[in-house]
Amino acid sequence: MSRIIEDDLKNIAESIKDIASRLNGKTFLITGGAGFLGNYFIGTIDYLNKHVLQKPCRVISIDNFVTGVRYRIPEGPNFKAIKHDIREQIKIDEPVHFILHAAGIASPKFYRDYKIQTIDVASLGTRNMLEIAKEKQAESFMFFSSSEIYGDPYPEFIPTPETYRGNVSSIGPRSNYDESKRLGETYCIAYFEAFNVPVKIVRPFNIYGPGMRLDDFRVMPNFATHYFSGKPLPVYGTGNQTRTFCYISDAITAFFKVLLSDHNGEVFNVGADKPEISIGGIAQIIAELYGCQIQNIPRETMGDAYDGKADPHRRCPDLTKTKTKVNYEPKVDLRTGIQRFMEWAKEVHAQKSLV
Ligand code: UDP
Repeated sequence: MSRIIEDDLKNIAESIKDIASRLNGKTFLITGGAGFLGNYFIGTIDYLNKHVLQKPCRVISIDNFVTGVRYRIPEGPNFKAIKHDIREQIKIDEPVHFILHAAGIASPKFYRDYKIQTIDVASLGTRNMLEIAKEKQAESFMFFSSSEIYGDPYPEFIPTPETYRGNVSSIGPRSNYDESKRLGETYCIAYFEAFNVPVKIVRPFNIYGPGMRLDDFRVMPNFATHYFSGKPLPVYGTGNQTRTFCYISDAITAFFKVLLSDHNGEVFNVGADKPEISIGGIAQIIAELYGCQIQNIPRETMGDAYDGKADPHRRCPDLTKTKTKVNYEPKVDLRTGIQRFMEWAKEVHAQKSLV
């Protein structure tokens, strides 16, 4: 395993060790375990099993490898991998205490390639997992929604709090992702109200780090891939559109804090709240650090999710709720995160691998 990832797992475990004892001897069911976020969860539990917990926590992962590539740890007594498409129901013949529904097709490039599957995994897939949570009387269930459910917020709603209802197109190029995540949230709240399933919903804001596929097309891996191929960093349009970027170890820490809280039926933004930076600004930082060129690419040549109307102009979370209710504070600054990501990406690129 890469040194950067090992170090991240240690940092996450350190940040949650006080609340992790609840995982002693319990079983975790995770969907999308072979993906970017899922692999970090499994890695964290593996680390906790080796260094923190008295009784190991078991993990069962369900993935169909539509975008996930591989698991980083081998199967064994504490880790079982099931190849299954969670759009179809599945029976789990053992107790389950915690459920994370992290499967999804998050890259605009891929969710435009897999239009219907993207809708189904966030809607039917969520419902199927909620049914398991209900049947098993799970202690906690977490759904990975998205900051995309806010759409393209009006400037007065930036930074965006959880109470903002969104400015989302139901038929635009991002709608299959955005609207299905919204429906997934609706299912969660309905199962909480109707059956008392202890759901939590998280809305991640541009999480990045080691383990993103280098052919993912989202901005960080795409810039890395271009740099390693000796090509200029492609900035779509003017590059004035903004985002905030949250390094993976901060995000995973926040997810655990929400999962292991008692805030049932609630929603939490997860990300970094500063800096809100333009995409041109991100390219500038990478160009300064690694000495590469930048090129503005006309939007007409990009996929429809990146056209001038569909691509959100600004995105930045209001983290007040997450900071105050679950004691979360992002720690990894942007330059450090980019350097960690690029160091990992360099190793992976040299091995001609995707993750
Ligand atoms: N972007 C870019 N060059 C790239 C990839 C993305 O300029 O190689 C821009 C894209 O137009 C968007 C932002 O970077 O405004 C973030 O895109 P990404 O796909 O990472 O995530 P999004 O926040 O749009 O879901």
